[in-house]
Formats: sequence, C-alpha cells, structure tokens
Amino acid sequence: MSEKNIVVLAGDGIGPEITAAAVQVLEKVGEKFGHKFNFDHKMLGGCAIDKFGVPLPDETVEACKASDGVLLGAVGGPKWDALPADIRPEKGLLGIRKALGLFANLRPAVIYPELADASPLKKEVLERGVNVMVVRELIGGIYFGPRDVLDDGKTAYDTEIYSEEEVRRIAKVAFDIARGRRKKVTSVDKANVLLSSRLWRRVTEEVHKDYPDVELTHIYVDNAAMQLVRDPSQFDVLLCPNMFGDILSDEASQITGSIGLLPSSSLGSEKAGLFEPIHGSAPDIAGKDIANPIATILAAAMMLDNIGLSDEARAVEKAVGAFLADGYRTPDLGEGKRVGCAEAGRLIAAYI
Ligand code: NAD
Repeated sequence: MSEKNIVVLAGDGIGPEITAAAVQVLEKVGEKFGHKFNFDHKMLGGCAIDKFGVPLPDETVEACKASDGVLLGAVGGPKWDALPADIRPEKGLLGIRKALGLFANLRPAVIYPELADASPLKKEVLERGVNVMVVRELIGGIYFGPRDVLDDGKTAYDTEIYSEEEVRRIAKVAFDIARGRRKKVTSVDKANVLLSSRLWRRVTEEVHKDYPDVELTHIYVDNAAMQLVRDPSQFDVLLCPNMFGDILSDEASQITGSIGLLPSSSLGSEKAGLFEPIHGSAPDIAGKDIANPIATILAAAMMLDNIGLSDEARAVEKAVGAFLADGYRTPDLGEGKRVGCAEAGRLIAAYI
C-alpha cells in the first residue's frame, strides 16, 4: 500500500474529458492494487487565464512541486489566441516545465497490432514489432546555445552546446529506462562532424560503465532517421540531443499513425515529473465526448512507472490493449464498436 499525491491539470478543450477518463483508470488501479491516490485539481492554460488572469498561477506551481506526479490534459484554444504572448496558455506550459526543471522528455512509440492499418509503414515491417522509447534532452543543445543575427540580418547563427553534466544526466535516464525494457540504448549523434557530438559520445560511454547489463550502440542521426522507417524493431531506447530528439520523436510517433494514442513524459530535477498526451486541446471536438483518452491514460501509466509502480503501469497498458483487441474504437480510430471518451475510460478501467 502506498499513498501518492497527484496534481491533475486538466487544462482546456478536451483536457477535462481525457483527464477525467485517466483519473478513473488510476482510481481503479488504486482500488485493485491497494494504493491511495490523492488527486489535486489545479489550473493551467486558458482556464487559469479566465480565472486568475495568468496562465500559470503560483498555487499551481507550488502544488506541482510538492506532488509525486503531474497529469496534464492539454492547453490552448481559439478563445485565447488573440492575447499577448506572455499571457497565452502555452506560456503556462513552458512555465511549468521550467519550474519543475524538466530536462528529459520521454516519448514511447508502440504499435498495437489491431491498429496496424493506421500506420504508414508496410505490414511486414510492423510484424517485427515496434516499441521504441525516444529519450530526448530537453533544455540544452542548439535550442538554448548562444545565437545572434549579424550584418543587418544577413547572417545568423545558433550554437549546439553541451556540458558533460548535461549529457551525463540524460544518459543516466536512458540507461535506467532501458533496464526496465529490452536493455538496449542507441545513442544518436553526428560525431563524424560535430565536436559536441564527440563529447556526447564520450560521456555516454563513461556512463555506460555503470550499466554493464545494458547494450550501448551509437548511430549517426541521418542513419537513425532512415533506420526508423526501414526497421523500427531494431530500436529499444533512442537517446538523443535536443534537436535530433525533437525531429526523431515526431518521426517515431507518426509510425504508429494515431495522435490520440501517444503519451509523453518529462522528468527533471524535482520529484514530480509531468505526464501528458502528445496531442493538443482539440477545440474542434471539445465537449462532444468523442475524444480519444488513450494517450492520457498511457501517460498515467508512465507516471505509475515513474513513481515505482511498474506492475500497475503494465496493468494499465494491458487494459488498453484488451480494450482495442475487443474492437472498441473512439471515432478517430476508425471502424469498430463505437464508444465515446467517457465510455472508453469506464471500459479501460473495468479491464484493469
Ligand atoms: P491538436 O492536437 O489539438 O488537434 C489536431 C487534430 O487532432 C484535431 O483535428 C483534433 O480533433 C485531433 N485530435 C487531437 N487529439 C485528439 C484525441 N485525443 N482524440 C481524437 N482526436 C484528437 O492540435 P491543434 O489543432 O494544432 O491545436 C489545438 C490547440 O491545442 C491549440 O491551441 C494549440 O496551441 C494547443 N496545443 C497544446 C498542446 C499541449 O497542451 N501540450 C500541444 C499541441 C497543441
């Protein structure tokens, strides 16, 4: 029996619907496995702007920092699009990532056999199995290095920059995750050209010495992009610098073919990680009870893994698999036994 404090940031659009489904599943997990989850609902994004005038109220930051994990729906929508940049809903998202010091972004890409038709890849490629975890460094590299525009706008530069410490902490995350999976880390770089990549490679090898049970290989980013569509089954954990991870995680997620299925988590220096679907607030379908809650439910499973409840996380993944295998489909997933968001949540909870 354990007791965990979970902050729920439902956000805007379909956020309240999909997080309600995920909370229902977590409550069932608590009941089945004998844990107590305390849910604290706080505001982020457009709803916070409406109530407090800011997208990220202090009380939200404080509650998140003190929690064991943060479950986020999505933020944003046309209602707030005309606001100045510093009080837009997205600003709240960046703010909470910063407040929690989130330096590691994890994005799994898994193919469910029942939904293989949604993938752009050929069936024979998918039959080898796709289960890739992209571990992306989130707050370093070229997106944060020195930059400037010179010569009256005729020249510009950005700088790829990494310190040993930045590489070490993200490499550790990748090796730790690989230990709970198929024990293979493929580190992505461009060490044939970039000095920062050579440092990345050297430090990754140093960290690897503490993980002799995990296999480490290196791959150039151009080859990684090609291999991901040629044969994704060869990858377990893909460890990437910020920009390479940005690009490859989108490529990996498209292999699965369905935006409503993919979760993401961000981990950092605080105890609490942030767990969310990769999609946005889908204002076009908000309030209609037709959103797919699976990405958010799988994000909740990533949270369970992160707070040390791995058996419980596997139970959630299995429940989602059983729901799909039995033919239930929200409208975005195509033909099948048609269910809405709330019903999908109820059924998946029942499969736990
Ligand atoms: P989106 O991901 O919200 O929607 C893209 C399309 O996918 C839409 O047709 C939508 O109906 C569909 N879709 C998304 N999630 C779905 C689900 N769970 N089930 C079924 N269909 C789903 O992207 P967008 O339309 O570009 O952005 C809408 C709003 O979301 C914008 O305000 C944007 O800024 C915001 N956004 C927020 C986040 C976040 O909170 N992390 C991420 C991306 C976009």
